Amino acid sequence: MRAFITVISATLLLISSTVNAATKLEVTPAKSAEEKAVLKFTKPIADEFIALINKEFPLYKPMIVRLGGGEGPHFDPEKMEIAVPFTFVTQVLQRFRSPDAEIEGYMTAKEATRHAVMHVLLHELGHALVYDHDIPILGKEEDAVDNFATLVMLWHQGAEETLASAELFALFDLEVEEFSEAHFWGEHSLDAQRATSVVCLVYGSDPDKYEYLMGEQQKENDREGHCQYEYESKSRNWERATETARKLRKP
Ligand SMILES: [Zn+2]
Repeated sequence: MRAFITVISATLLLISSTVNAATKLEVTPAKSAEEKAVLKFTKPIADEFIALINKEFPLYKPMIVRLGGGEGPHFDPEKMEIAVPFTFVTQVLQRFRSPDAEIEGYMTAKEATRHAVMHVLLHELGHALVYDHDIPILGKEEDAVDNFATLVMLWHQGAEETLASAELFALFDLEVEEFSEAHFWGEHSLDAQRATSVVCLVYGSDPDKYEYLMGEQQKENDREGHCQYEYESKSRNWERATETARKLRKP
């Protein structure tokens, strides 16, 4: 009996300590003036991201969010680390500053970059949650975590902020001159599909409010309410997949 009680208390101790595992920031020192400027721009985004993880999406294992250095953006399950190189943030900003960007008028290039980088971080958090919570994914994981990022942007930021990432995917799509086999073998859906998936979820969150996002053709394609169904089912599933850890986390 005593052994049983010991096992129980050891298990409780394990649970209480693991769900308390906080996500922390680590910064690779910025070397050039340009890297320092990117770090100054990106750190508040990372701070907001980490506060959101620790409040709403706690992980069982401790995780590091690393800014600067290395490759990425990616989530490395062995290191339990999300990494975002400085160069990636610069590339996003350059795309939003290109003449093809259609954000002019309602958002600056810097604001759009801030929101799109948050979407990228949330995409990587999606991978971290799938690994950490052992969430069953029946389909392309890249699509699943894109949806997660879009939903969290909608819940915690807003529709315009979320649409910045649709614009970024559309800008990536413009750079493709010709589709090769590699595009179809890729882990990710095509950039044009990633863009429309974001718009579909935003529209599906409130079809009356966001009717303006859909052209006549898209409305015709969505006549059975596919986007609204996608929004509702994906919201419910991600909520269910993350609620246990949220409940076990100590206040
Ligand atoms: Zn991914």
